[in-house]
Amino acid sequence: MSAPKLVQGYEVVIGFETHAQLSTKSKIFSRASVAFGAEPNTQACAVDMALPGTLPVMNMGAVERAIEFGLGVNAHIAERSVFARKNYFYPDLPKGYQISQFEIPVVQGGEVSFFLEVGKETVHKTVRLERAHLEEDAGKSLHEDFIGQSGIDLNRAGTPLLEIVTQPDMRSSEEAVAYAKELHKIVTWIGICDGNMQEGSFRCDANVSVRKPGAPLGTRREIKNLNSFKFMQQAIDFEVRWQIDQIEDGHTIEQATVLFDPDTGETRAMRTKEDAADYRYFPDPDLPPLVIGRDWVERVRSEMAELPRIMAERFVKDYALPEYDATQLTQSKAAAAYFEATAKACGQPKLASNWIMGEVSRRLNASEMTIEQAPVSAAQLAALIGRISDNTVSNNAARQVFDALWSEGGDVDAIIEAKGLKQMDDAGELEKIIDDVLAANPKNVEEFKAGNTKALNGLVGPIMKVSKGKANPAQVNALLMKKLS
Ligand code: ADP
Ligand code: MG
Repeated sequence: MSAPKLVQGYEVVIGFETHAQLSTKSKIFSRASVAFGAEPNTQACAVDMALPGTLPVMNMGAVERAIEFGLGVNAHIAERSVFARKNYFYPDLPKGYQISQFEIPVVQGGEVSFFLEVGKETVHKTVRLERAHLEEDAGKSLHEDFIGQSGIDLNRAGTPLLEIVTQPDMRSSEEAVAYAKELHKIVTWIGICDGNMQEGSFRCDANVSVRKPGAPLGTRREIKNLNSFKFMQQAIDFEVRWQIDQIEDGHTIEQATVLFDPDTGETRAMRTKEDAADYRYFPDPDLPPLVIGRDWVERVRSEMAELPRIMAERFVKDYALPEYDATQLTQSKAAAAYFEATAKACGQPKLASNWIMGEVSRRLNASEMTIEQAPVSAAQLAALIGRISDNTVSNNAARQVFDALWSEGGDVDAIIEAKGLKQMDDAGELEKIIDDVLAANPKNVEEFKAGNTKALNGLVGPIMKVSKGKANPAQVNALLMKKLS
């Protein structure tokens, strides 16, 4: 492994806490709906409002999703875990405590590994997980946008969350963002979380500290609620520079919770350790310990879809793809399915990969579409790749066909025919073009014969132009060499 990247002589240390909203229909301890965007308090039942006499009842769908996550990251699924009360006062928390897990979480250990680009190198990185535990979300204070005055919306109260905590294993903002992206990919791939960051379904807290290489861990500050990968990178980069400046100026870092302000690009302290709450955790007497039988875990395991890393390894093995391609193509289930369908239909996996990572993704990005919305189907792309490999069209012409497919749809062969993009297979016709070009460019011919191989470009260009790009480049080269030797 390469030495960690230093910033002004300091090593950066980052650990993540991520709240993933679990994709159940109802809440973690009540039957109220968790659908996003409803009118305030229309999805808060007596349990969510903490009315006296109500009791929580565990939603087994949330537990099953926690099991799926644990299996997805090679963690231990606790046979017995315990719900605890985390006590604090806040207007959006009517019970006066949040039900969470503390000493014995449901998911223990595990790891997330991924590739990231460092300079020109592809580096493999593994981040160890400490735990993942089940808990309920709190409500939300609304201000102007609530019946013209401030109020509490308890629709979100009791929404099931899985809090995923890493070891302090990341050593740069790039690694942190790559980890967050990989984790996002895992939870959406398994289907336990919709991953919608704008709606708050996947929010990250980044714990950041710096130290001189070899020194013990520095004091961390925790950047709360990062809800975009872009802000995540900016916030951590700012925080690292800020901490180094503080230390270089002779100050010590005080443990604190900070917020990132996207408008200023700065982090700002929200509270320090002194005024941090003492949560007085204790086991929730209203809920029995969560017991998960091994047969349940094994059933979930047997029903789980192939995981992205496993699929990427299979792509390397079965399709002889480079690791990088395999990783890119397994960013989502839909992308992977599109690739496999294309590769199988055309029998040219590497070409399929090049086209999908190139033209297809360029087009998707430009029009902000997902691969499910791509107007060119895997079958159409495979047909086009088939026409490249049987030399019917050049790469250039293929791009024109692709453009037409994308904007108008249709049949690959019909488009090639209609646009007259077939490569010239009439050697006689091509030879005539070459003779004309040679006659018109005596200087290039002379220079080439005198040993200047670059002069050839001055001949190939006009030939391709006169042939309207339909000449087969390999054939042009062969004929030119014959005529010039
Ligand atoms: P808390 O629950 O109070 O926030 P934890 O001990 O559970 O505290 O740690 C929270 C996160 O902070 C974990 O992801 C952990 O890896 C990370 N962390 C702990 N110490 C450091 C440190 N010195 N620098 C950076 N991250 C740290
Ligand atoms: Mg924390």
